[in-house]
Amino acid sequence: MSTYTNFTVETDADGIALVTWDMPGKSMNVFTLEVMAEIEAILAATVADEAVKGVVFTSGKSSFSGGADLTMIKSMFSMLAEEKAKDPQAAVQKLFDAAGQMSQLFRRIETNGKPWVSAINGTCMGGAFELSLACHGRVAANSKAVKIALPEVKVGIFPGAGGTQRVPRLANAQDALQMMTTGSSLTAQRAKAMGLVHQVVEPGELIGTAKQMIKDGLKPVAPWDEKGFKVPGGGVWTPAAAQLFPAAPAILRRETAGNYPGALAILKCVYEGLQLPFDTALKVEQRYFTQILQTTEAFSMIRSLFVSMQELGKGARRPAGVPKTEIKKVGVVGAGFMGASIAYVTAAAGIPVVLIDRDQAAADKGKAHSEKLVADQVGKGRMTKEEGEQLLALVTPTPDYSTLADVDLVVEAVFEDRAVKKAVIEQVEAVISDTTIFASNTSTLPITGLAENSKRPEQFIGVHFFSPVEKMMLTEVILGEQTGDKALAMALDFVAKIKKTPIVVNDTRGFFVNRCVFRYINEAYDMLIEGVPPAMIENAAKMAGMPVGPLSLNDEVAVDLSQKIMKASIADLGPNAVKPEHMDLIDKMVDVLDRRGRKNGQGFYDYPAKPAKKSLWPGLKDLYPQKPASEVDVATLKQRLLVTIALEAARTMEERIVTDPREADVGSILGFGFAPYTGGTLSYIDGMGVKTFVELCERLAEAYGDHFRPTPLLVEMAANGETFYGRFDPYGAVERAA
Ligand code: NAD
Repeated sequence: MSTYTNFTVETDADGIALVTWDMPGKSMNVFTLEVMAEIEAILAATVADEAVKGVVFTSGKSSFSGGADLTMIKSMFSMLAEEKAKDPQAAVQKLFDAAGQMSQLFRRIETNGKPWVSAINGTCMGGAFELSLACHGRVAANSKAVKIALPEVKVGIFPGAGGTQRVPRLANAQDALQMMTTGSSLTAQRAKAMGLVHQVVEPGELIGTAKQMIKDGLKPVAPWDEKGFKVPGGGVWTPAAAQLFPAAPAILRRETAGNYPGALAILKCVYEGLQLPFDTALKVEQRYFTQILQTTEAFSMIRSLFVSMQELGKGARRPAGVPKTEIKKVGVVGAGFMGASIAYVTAAAGIPVVLIDRDQAAADKGKAHSEKLVADQVGKGRMTKEEGEQLLALVTPTPDYSTLADVDLVVEAVFEDRAVKKAVIEQVEAVISDTTIFASNTSTLPITGLAENSKRPEQFIGVHFFSPVEKMMLTEVILGEQTGDKALAMALDFVAKIKKTPIVVNDTRGFFVNRCVFRYINEAYDMLIEGVPPAMIENAAKMAGMPVGPLSLNDEVAVDLSQKIMKASIADLGPNAVKPEHMDLIDKMVDVLDRRGRKNGQGFYDYPAKPAKKSLWPGLKDLYPQKPASEVDVATLKQRLLVTIALEAARTMEERIVTDPREADVGSILGFGFAPYTGGTLSYIDGMGVKTFVELCERLAEAYGDHFRPTPLLVEMAANGETFYGRFDPYGAVERAA
């Protein structure tokens, strides 16, 4: 048998070919054109070889496979754009053919006449699970490492290689829809309970069991290719289905406000497909897949949420020429709310960390946070007791600064107070080595100003975490005027090690994320003052695709923190820095009404004791004369909330605070959940076209104020027909720099 680049094939004495997928130089197997061609060749060879009785398909890596290489899909988009310019109809035909390739390959496996068994040893996502579904048998290892999912919806597409047809022919329709429209992961046990895998066995028995299935006479025919096959639950013409299918689009609309065409296409594929013979159903899926691939949502989501996120995670902004640092020890100074969590994520990445506070008790309190998190993880079975102990052993709480002598990096997370930070910077610099990098987690103080307290400003940088640190995937890395390449490289190496995605921004008040967030909240203040019913503001935000309404978000951030920041802006920048009506509203909320947000149980919302849910504070309606709901246009509210944020992002590009559009996009989605279907703030503008965006801004400025005026850069780009990704081409920049 021939040799392959990505696979090994070993046929045993029983005639069972063990196909092991192990791509060279990659940490995870993914589908590429070469991989598909090799699977095709393996299929042909095993069919032709009479000695082969069946095939076991597995992975040589710790995971099974992450699914399709989405960069392949991204290049399909470029192909489509080029071809469309020449001949639109032929371009769509080409896309249709490409969209069906994987599906047809899997169908050929399913109908090849010899039994195939997929042996799932670890994470099995997207196309890899669709391939497994086309095998006649599926065995999964009884291991935490096994996570099975069809997560395509999360990047704007859907399982288009047979997933929408095979899952609801194995599992009941409700579970199938739930799995595919949310993209959530299944454990091996759950997948078995749903009927998606046949057996779950101990990891060491995986291949043996898979082979045994073939030896036991596994029929090389899919259930739906058998005469008399019945869909589980009876298909779409049953009383249960009559309850499910009419409700499903409404539920989806409630969850996603109709913003995700890929999710709706799943419902259509399942409903239509279950009424058709299997091969016709696959064709229907291919047609919807072709349609979805042409949506702006799919294009933008794949670019930002997959390609750019991966590139930034792999250090796209890391300065070339600085060798990678193996971070051996980290110091965290300030063991409060943020410092305690930063210490935890550092230890969770296997790095020893000293956690310093003013006295031993305060430092111990910081470590107690790690102890609680570890106990929770162990309790939930996500961590063994030993793993938990190992993690905790890495955190050393102490008030003794001399323990910082051998750290590679210090993260400062003390009070947000210039004088306190100055004292800490001096105390730390008195003990650290010449090469140690100092990173401040400040959220509001410009890094350049803080670095004035440092003797080595080139080794001083901002590393801004978001709360809750354990969950938030983003970290903003802020360059002070004098920050050097070594500091940047070290900061990025650290962020990568703790598995967060970094964006690198230049110094400014609020950096990138908070500048955008405050625009969002400020627009809600304007709406409140205009008399828009508060519930309409919050609902419009959700309908626009934001995960949290602006008033709710302000409560989380703390209303008195907003007051503090607004006052600081006025003190530093003058009285025009904040609208007087906004200051009045917030002064009233904090000083008169003591409504400080979630933390004191009352803000824009009321927070009754659990299990009761929070609800908008009824008194909010009495602060300003209310407009009747019928006079408020929800579509305009949605636009105002998204446009004000996107405009701020555009300003940060114009001011060169953010220099790479990928960072504005990824930062806005990971930092504050900017409507993910748009692909982020700048993709939102590019997606509708800069010219359309500028016209929209002008209209909003006429009606709601000058803060909507498009900036000179936007006007120029509109006139030239440019896009952000064209004008600030991240790849062009890399090539130029190289
Ligand atoms: P916090 O009050 O919870 O913690 C500050 C800790 O610093 C306290 O434990 C305090 O005892 C300690 N401390 C004060 N002076 C010290 C000194 N001289 N030496 C050692 N320890 C000292 O505050 P926090 O919310 O964790 O914020 C810390 C920093 O992180 C601030 O700069 C803040 O702006 C920033 N930040 C906060 C958030 C957030 O959501 N809270 C988010 C991002 C960044």
